[in-house]
Amino acid sequence: MNYRHIFHAGNAADVMKHAVLAWLLDRLLAKETPFFVLDTHAGIGRYDLDDQAASRTGEALRGIRRVMDGNGAASLPEGAKPYLDLLARLNEGAAGVRTYPGSPLIARMMMREQDRLLLAELHADDVQTLRSLFRGDVQVSVHHMDGWLSLKAHLPPKERRGLVVIDPPFEAPDEYERLVAALALAHRRWATGQYLLWYPVKDRAAVWQFHQMLEDTGIPKMLAAELCWSDDDRSDRLNGSGLILVNPPWKTEETLSSLLPALQTALAAGVGPVGCRWLRDENGKPA
Ligand code: SAM
Repeated sequence: MNYRHIFHAGNAADVMKHAVLAWLLDRLLAKETPFFVLDTHAGIGRYDLDDQAASRTGEALRGIRRVMDGNGAASLPEGAKPYLDLLARLNEGAAGVRTYPGSPLIARMMMREQDRLLLAELHADDVQTLRSLFRGDVQVSVHHMDGWLSLKAHLPPKERRGLVVIDPPFEAPDEYERLVAALALAHRRWATGQYLLWYPVKDRAAVWQFHQMLEDTGIPKMLAAELCWSDDDRSDRLNGSGLILVNPPWKTEETLSSLLPALQTALAAGVGPVGCRWLRDENGKPA
């Protein structure tokens, strides 16, 4: 395991993923009943963008810092509000964004006292950092375990309502296949849960094959969203960021259709493809 998220924290892919995550969590807040969040590949939860590792790659400069330091944030639509509010809360009194929330902290900051968060992280050092972030927090449990196995171990949750975030590092050559198999397994255990899966957009043929495999699972109500910063078709570089949403709430398509192009503009992310489309609609029909 070589991947460390600190080198990538706050990059354009994080901005897309986390803006959508915060919006989904905000929708879960609409009902009083408790919700559960499982984050299978949690990372360390909170990132200092001035840290040496983060500064070395400078990815946040082309990501969240570009959005916040320019005028980009002001022109973002309503769908970005939960994410922007959270960043403002976390960096209150500071100039710009220095502290950047990973998916665990985003979930934690948006939860109420009735909600529960379960985190899986396999890296021995990173899980310790994550543990110290949530030490003493009775609503959060941190597990040093394989995130793929956590799906089997912890689904379905007793709350019967909530979200599963699956955000693997894509280090293994078969990560797309793994993601599809994991979703199929999780969905068999908990068909009514919401799912948010991240994937890299590299060459189009690989993405097309991935979408085809997802369609072949027959899972209904599955939306694919992408924000690309290049229309290159090269497999050796990240050309964009993709998300698969299963059972997304009402108005997701409408929200993403305005949010994603606006984020692309705020990121000055060029002219790559952006938008979303149903892989299967709510009746299970390929769209
Ligand atoms: N979801 C995080 C966020 O948005 O802030 C970022 C996660 S990062 C892309 C992937 C993480 O998965 C890394 O911290 C890595 O150590 C961890 N990881 C790699 N393989 C894993 C596995 N099999 N199970 C759990 N965690 C794993």
